Amino acid sequence: LNSIEKRAIIAIDLDYFYAQCEEVRNHCLKVRPVVVCVYSGRTQDSGAVSTCNYIARKLGVKSGMPIAFAKRILKGNDQAVFLPLDMEYYQSISEKIMEIARTSSEKFEQSSIDEAFLDVSSRFDPKLEGASSVARSVKQEILLAESLTCSVGVAENKLLAKMAVDSKKPDGFTVIIPSEEKSFLYPLPVGKLFGVGPKTEAKLKSIQVETLGDLALTDQKRLEEIFGKNLGRILREWANGIDNSPVEEKPTEQLSRIVTLKRDATSFDFCEVLEPLSADLENKLRTSKISGKTVGIIAITAQLKIKSRARTLSVPTQSGSQILAIAAELFSSFFEESAEDGQELRIRRAGIKVSELIPETTTTPQTLEQFF
Ligand SMILES: [Mg+2]
Repeated sequence: LNSIEKRAIIAIDLDYFYAQCEEVRNHCLKVRPVVVCVYSGRTQDSGAVSTCNYIARKLGVKSGMPIAFAKRILKGNDQAVFLPLDMEYYQSISEKIMEIARTSSEKFEQSSIDEAFLDVSSRFDPKLEGASSVARSVKQEILLAESLTCSVGVAENKLLAKMAVDSKKPDGFTVIIPSEEKSFLYPLPVGKLFGVGPKTEAKLKSIQVETLGDLALTDQKRLEEIFGKNLGRILREWANGIDNSPVEEKPTEQLSRIVTLKRDATSFDFCEVLEPLSADLENKLRTSKISGKTVGIIAITAQLKIKSRARTLSVPTQSGSQILAIAAELFSSFFEESAEDGQELRIRRAGIKVSELIPETTTTPQTLEQFF
């Protein structure tokens, strides 16, 4: 017997995330075309569109498009706004939202800055109805807490939940019940299947596979010949809505907090601005039940060069005051070294980083010396 227990999975996708964050920061943008850009810096307009709001989308602007091209589309539109990417700000909003999602379910997996999966299977019966009500309340909570809309998909596995969320945006709410899985999937063009890029799509079309229904009914051997054993099998399973992959949190590789100094520093006179950063890191480490074995500093100079220094501890830590003490020492010696080398160091932004993260240890070191 190989029965797999039924699950209830929620996929959350924050709508046009970077551009919506900009709207949250400045409400006047809500009624204007907003284009968030990654400037490459070579010329004034070189670079690409990262995200844009739906007003800009309706006018023809798309992610990945050259900025100059988007500007041509919006030429003459004096309402259009082009903004540079502000990842630090988007990251801070993302973290708050992910915390809401994480605490709403027993199993949580963040898949990108604006996407997550929740598995609430163990709590409800019937499962999908329970999951739908969790999805509604998470959606509501995110709106209340951060004024951001998101789209959600609810289904029996991650693939179907993801396909559901992708089917209706923005502010979407889509549930796929088991009896409707095939009627949902089969009419979709193969290019809509999660993970199918232009190359795979072209190969499938070359063998007359146009829809997921076609793919679901294609001979397994044929697919394996063309795509190899693994991909061939997965494509056919996915077209049939089969996916047993678990919702599991990926280990965080590092945590960092960074701040822009009021004025460029030429000596270590900004310890107090690091204090909230270390407190924030302690909070994050404790709630995530992890400790860091390496504490480092990040310094962004007035010339926008990124420099870092780090120290590995003999005993991993969660303590904000220890993190702050190490960061302070690393910053002081960094300034000293630069002075000895006869270089003036001017720091514009300063940050603290904790890495080599491991599950928290129960042993509490007794003395500070153990950390050095
Ligand atoms: Mg999104």
